[in-house]
Amino acid sequence: MRPEVRTNSLFIDGSWTAAEGGGERIVTNPYDATELATVAEASTADVDRAVRAARAAFDAGGWAHAPAARRAAVLTATADALQEHRAELARLETLDTGKTLAESRYDVDDSTAVLRYYAALVTTEAGRTVDTGRADAVSRVVHEPVGVCALITPWNYPLLQITWKLAPALAAGNAVVAKPSEVTPLTTVRLFELLQERLDEAGAPAGTANLVLGGGAVGAALAEHPLVDLVSFTGGLATGRSVMRAAAETVKKVALELGGKNPNIVFADADLTTAVDYALTAAFLHSGQVCSAGSRLLLQRGQHEEFITELARRAERIRLGDGLAKGTECGPLVSAEHRAKVERHLAGALAEGAVLRAGGARPTEPELQQGYFLRPTVLSGCHPGMAVVREEVFGPVLTVELFDAEDEVVALANDTPYGLAGAVWTKDAGRAERVAQRLRLGTVWINDYHPYVPQAEWGGFKQSGTGRELGPSGLREYQEAKHIWRTIDPAPQYWFAD
Ligand code: NDP
Repeated sequence: MRPEVRTNSLFIDGSWTAAEGGGERIVTNPYDATELATVAEASTADVDRAVRAARAAFDAGGWAHAPAARRAAVLTATADALQEHRAELARLETLDTGKTLAESRYDVDDSTAVLRYYAALVTTEAGRTVDTGRADAVSRVVHEPVGVCALITPWNYPLLQITWKLAPALAAGNAVVAKPSEVTPLTTVRLFELLQERLDEAGAPAGTANLVLGGGAVGAALAEHPLVDLVSFTGGLATGRSVMRAAAETVKKVALELGGKNPNIVFADADLTTAVDYALTAAFLHSGQVCSAGSRLLLQRGQHEEFITELARRAERIRLGDGLAKGTECGPLVSAEHRAKVERHLAGALAEGAVLRAGGARPTEPELQQGYFLRPTVLSGCHPGMAVVREEVFGPVLTVELFDAEDEVVALANDTPYGLAGAVWTKDAGRAERVAQRLRLGTVWINDYHPYVPQAEWGGFKQSGTGRELGPSGLREYQEAKHIWRTIDPAPQYWFAD
């Protein structure tokens, strides 16, 4: 059944609207390539209108200077609305992205938690006083919103990614223009319907939150727009660079979350059954279309053959299917183009000498032929010289490299331009801490993979990005620090003689 999605799906200056010029785009289900909805495709004139609406709303001050408690109440009410509509939102996310319902429910719950976290955080922040060293002067540092923020998100976690940006941006008092991926815009449209009601109830100016839909041209128009003060972007490295270049023209602030090539390090003393189990989730959750996917398995020589055999056996058993169906463990890739890109990586790896241990092909089941499926794939015999080890594949492809010593694996793991996340598995607590300390990564898991919480920062070292989402730093991205100094009873100081 097709979901109900509005066609006039741009939200600009407080109204739902079609695109100027009538641009539209069909959104499809990656499970079976059927049409899900027709949405508006913004023109650059729509982008300009949205940015000007946000600018006017921000400059009017009604939201920026609203009491923090009022802004927090909007976030909390939106979090409540997400939970009331949890089943509907999860179904919509699964239809649009292909991920399993269990994953989509998790994304709704995570988005809810992030809204609640920033609602709480912003009401407990009131800046700080600073010691002036003088009895006749007081000084304080306060945090103010940056202004108009462009929020650009990718297709793999549409609801979650936009919420990670919207929650702190609105909590801080900014006005926003959001642009989800053209491939998966549906839950963002629904979120904006729920958010808009709450913003209206709180008396926020029209134009506080705007939504434009469309592809790269719409994102680029936002990154270039002179009235935008900050661009928060999650996506690929090449696009991130172009956003940074565009932002440089008017010295916009940029926050970039650009994916990774994440090492999952397993020492020979780790429990084999548990480490194999987590290696599968690390690599194949959401078919590997996760910025923090543990796509690089680094195994200590010892029990490595047994490990790879067990890993391959379990990878072959992963059940592919419709994300809405009970029993499905992995959905399809997001689009035909993306699957073709992953398959090119795979062919390149085999040509470079990687050994295929599991998967490596599309499934043969008749019911999976319309969707963009690829079997979870395990490649052994890999080394850092291979493109498949260095480049982000963003699909269900796990490479295995071998190592002997602690120093060697730290060097191997750090030998990449990325620095997003990774894990170390060992029963030796001292070694776990030493390795965690030396990894140049924004997140390190010890004897685990993938957990995160709204309270802890998320982001990358090196070319995995700049800035942080989540945690207190996630709020700071959307704030300017202002120092206010007051001399209580001023008198001439006669620096220059009278
Ligand atoms: P992109 O970087 O192309 O897309 C991310 C967002 O930016 C989308 O909304 C996209 O629009 C938009 N965009 C595209 N071009 C521009 C531009 N010139 N200026 C501003 N915004 C733009 O990533 P993809 O989704 O195409 O995936 C490509 C690669 O990015 C993946 O293979 C993976 O390596 C990485 N990636 C990383 C993610 C992460 O979580 N860190 C998430 C997704 C991808 P639209 O999609 O409509 O074209």
